[in-house]
Amino acid sequence: MILIVDDKPENVFSLKIILEAKGFLVDTAYSGQEALKKVLKNDYALIILDVQMPIMNGFEVAESLGSYSKTNDIAIIFLSAINIDKKYVTKGYHSGAVDYLTKPVDPDILILKINVFYRIYEQKVLLKEAENKLKKENIFRKQVQVELKNRVQYLNTIFQSLPQIAFKADFNGNVTFVNDHWYEYSSSSHRFPVQAPGFSAIKTKFKECVGKKTEFEYEVSIRNLKTGLFRFHLLRVIPVIEGRKIIKWVGTFTDIEEQKQVEKRKDEFLSIASHELKTPLTSVKGYVQLLGRLSDTIDNEKIVSLHQKALNQVIKLEGLVSDLLDVSRINNSKLQIYKEYFDLDSLITNAINTIEQNHKSSGIKIERVGDTFFDQIYGDANRIEQVLINFLTNAVKYSPGTFKIIVRTIFDKDKVVVEVQDFGIGIPEDKKDFIFNKFYRVDESSVSFQGLGIGLYICSEIIKQHNGTYGIVSRLGKGTQMFFTLPYSKKTND
Ligand code: ADP
Repeated sequence: MILIVDDKPENVFSLKIILEAKGFLVDTAYSGQEALKKVLKNDYALIILDVQMPIMNGFEVAESLGSYSKTNDIAIIFLSAINIDKKYVTKGYHSGAVDYLTKPVDPDILILKINVFYRIYEQKVLLKEAENKLKKENIFRKQVQVELKNRVQYLNTIFQSLPQIAFKADFNGNVTFVNDHWYEYSSSSHRFPVQAPGFSAIKTKFKECVGKKTEFEYEVSIRNLKTGLFRFHLLRVIPVIEGRKIIKWVGTFTDIEEQKQVEKRKDEFLSIASHELKTPLTSVKGYVQLLGRLSDTIDNEKIVSLHQKALNQVIKLEGLVSDLLDVSRINNSKLQIYKEYFDLDSLITNAINTIEQNHKSSGIKIERVGDTFFDQIYGDANRIEQVLINFLTNAVKYSPGTFKIIVRTIFDKDKVVVEVQDFGIGIPEDKKDFIFNKFYRVDESSVSFQGLGIGLYICSEIIKQHNGTYGIVSRLGKGTQMFFTLPYSKKTND
């Protein structure tokens, strides 16, 4: 907007008409004081200021404008009828004018000049906006930097307060920060702790995980610098993701030596106990069997029945001890597998018959559906039967009040699939991943059903040793499908 300041209304009027005709927005003031008031209230691009005015002349108005920061860079064009003398013109420029025109003014020249000053004003405004934006950005950037620094410091303090060894690494896996515990196991922040013989180098493992861009866990024994002794640690490394990019890695080594020792002692106890139990149990079984033969000759119904009950319990006990023995063998990597070609189809039929026989009173029927296996499979028949019996026993055990189990067999070109489906209690979704773990039992069912939680663990180890796979599909209250696969390749005759 342009402000015309003149004490003569006719001058103001004629100039206003000219400027408005050219599309400018125009405001007017009829004295210096009125002009000053308006200038403080509104924003003007240009002021056309008459020099000769009563009380406050044009020069005084210009000087006052120059002393306010809001107004000191508004362009002023002086219009003067009489003060065309050089000294007045100079005074005009000194008091802040950008131009000094004498009346009568040629309207075309005036418009041309106003256009130029207007453009300069617009550019000035743009420049100021850009400058303000830059200033704001600068302030913001500084704030972000301070915040970032605070966050890093905060994180480092947390790292220091951790009871574990903790470190940070950049996205490439180069260590950038370590807490004080690190130095109990390494002399330099750039060197990972030394691992015990037989373990892969930590740096190699870490770089592998950086390459794969996934978090990882690694149980590793590392050497304490002070004692020189190795202690088991659990290394956990997780990526820190911003947007969709990994920006750094954080890792901790948690001392799990005590747990490992307890686990070792428990495994040792299990091994000793199951071995110790096995010998007397074998003798008891022998005696019970002998008694059985004697009871046949006595022909006493009560004795025969009691003997059968005793034998059943001994067989159950034998199964438990044998499972415990298997667990301790797995712990010591001594689970023996004797592979040869065997007939999987008749193994399945036998297992089904055995289970049906053992659970005759429950009225359960086991249905076999799917493919028949005509070819022989390479593996340990006894161990595979153990797996299937375990699946079937569980299917019966965890399906009270139901009367059907389905054994489904699928013959694929490079593998066979054996699946046992029941319609029992099912397994909660969040527990499914754990049921093949050692000593794991689903809380919800462990009160109502007896068991040690090792059957499926042994099954998983047996299947792994056959390079097969295993898994479950289950719906709570609807039933469970448990399957295993075995690799198949045609038997050659040489
Ligand atoms: P357990 O001796 O407890 O049966 P397993 O290792 O055979 O031990 O099974 C582990 C756990 O998995 C069981 O305690 C049970 O909670 C769950 N489970 C296994 N099979 C089934 C099934 N067919 N239906 C429901 N739950 C099952």
